Amino acid sequence: MSDRNTNQDRIAVINAQIVTVDKKSSVIDNGSLVVGADGAIREIASGKLEHTAAEVIDARGAIVMPGLINTHAHLGMTLFRGLGDDMSLEDFLARLMPAEIKVLNHDAVHAGTELAALESLLGGITTSLDMYYLPDAALEVAKSSGMRIQTGPNFLESDGPEPLPFDERLAWATKWLEAPRDELGSTGWVAPHSTYLLGEDHLNTLAALAAKYEARIHVHAAETVGEMQLVAKRHGGRTPIQVLADTNLLRRSVLAHGVHLNDDDIKLIASNSATVVHCPASNYKLASGVARILDLQRAGVNIALGTDGPASGNDLDLWIAIRLAGYMQKTIAKNAAVLPALDIVRMATINGARALQLDHVIGSLEVGKRADLIVLDADSPSLTPNFNPHTTIATSVTRADVLHVVVDGKTVVRDRKCLTIDHKAAVSAVKALGKQVLASVSNN
Ligand SMILES: [Zn+2]
Repeated sequence: MSDRNTNQDRIAVINAQIVTVDKKSSVIDNGSLVVGADGAIREIASGKLEHTAAEVIDARGAIVMPGLINTHAHLGMTLFRGLGDDMSLEDFLARLMPAEIKVLNHDAVHAGTELAALESLLGGITTSLDMYYLPDAALEVAKSSGMRIQTGPNFLESDGPEPLPFDERLAWATKWLEAPRDELGSTGWVAPHSTYLLGEDHLNTLAALAAKYEARIHVHAAETVGEMQLVAKRHGGRTPIQVLADTNLLRRSVLAHGVHLNDDDIKLIASNSATVVHCPASNYKLASGVARILDLQRAGVNIALGTDGPASGNDLDLWIAIRLAGYMQKTIAKNAAVLPALDIVRMATINGARALQLDHVIGSLEVGKRADLIVLDADSPSLTPNFNPHTTIATSVTRADVLHVVVDGKTVVRDRKCLTIDHKAAVSAVKALGKQVLASVSNN
C-alpha cells in the first residue's frame, strides 16, 4: 500500500502555454494546471499554483492542449496497412473485406488495436471512436493502454469474421448494449456500416435496437460517387442521408465522411443535430472527393475530424487531417481566410467530444473536466517561434512534437515513450501476423 495521501494532487503542469479550447478559446501564457487526486483538472491559472503533486511536468513554455479526438477510425485495421493503395474505395473494399473475414479473430483484432493505440497515443490522440469487428478486443486495449476507445457492435449484411448471421449478431449486440457503460456515462454505440451494405429492413431494425438502449449511431455516409449510385439504386433514388433520416438513424448520429451532400442533405443533418466527421487524408488518398465543410459550417453542423482506417488513411495521424482540412478548403474556396486555425483546432478537440456527447467531461482544458492533455516539445525547431499557438497547431505541429500525454489524469506517454503498452511487443505482434495477412489478400 502506498502511504500517499489520498487527497494528494496527481500532476502539476507548470510553465505552460495552455491552449484551453474553452468557450472563449482562451490561451494562458506562462500557466499552470493542477490535476487533482480524482484525475480531474482542479485548477488552471497564469503563473504558479500551490499543489501537492509528486509528478511535475515542466512544459518550459511549450503548448499544452487537450488530447486530440479521432472521431472516425477502424483501429484494428492497422493489420492491413498498405494493402489497399492506389485504388478507389470500391476496389479497396472488394480487396480488404474478404481478407478481414479470413484473418480476423479476437487475438488479431487485439494486436491490431494495440498497435493502433500505441500509434495514437504517441501522436497525441487520447480518444477514438472506433468501428471494427470483435469490439471486445478494442475495449480490452482501452483498459490496458489507458486510451479512451468508444466502440460497439458493427453491422453489415455479410456474416463478418465473428461469424454471426444478422439475427445472431443482433442478439449479441443486445447483450453488448446491456453491459454497464464507462464511468464517464458514455452512450452505447451501434454501427451500421453504411446504407449501401445494408437494406432498409436491417436499417430499421438497428434504429429500433439503438433507440431501446439510447445508443448512438456511427455510420459511413456519402463517401464516394460510387456509393451515391449504389444507394440510389438500392433505396429508390434516395441519398444516404435521406435513407438514414427515413429509417430513424440520423438523429444525433456520427456520420463518417459526408463528402457528397446536396443542400437538402445538409439541412437534414443540421436539423437532426448529427455530426459530420471529416476524414480528409482518406478522402484524398482514395480520390473520394472534397467535403463541403464550409457549407456544413454555415448550416451550424458540428464538424469533427477523423483519420479513417489505417488501410485507407494510411495512418492514425490527426495532425495530417488538421492540415489537409484547412489547406483544401482554402484552395477550393480560392480564399486563404476560410476555415481559420482556431476552427480546425476546435474540430480536432471539443467538436469530437461534442460528437461523442462527452463535451462536458473532455475536449477542452477546464476546471472539473477529466485531465486529457498533451504537452508539445519546447525545443522543436519547427514550432519556433510560436507567436500564435492556434496557427502553430493548425500548420506546424507533427506527431514528432508530442512529448508527454496524459489521459484521465494519468501520464501514458512520457518523453515520447508509452508507459502503458510494451512498444516492441505491440510492433512484433502485428509483424508476426504479416504473412497470414498477405496470403489472405493475394488469395482473393
Ligand atoms: Zn471508415
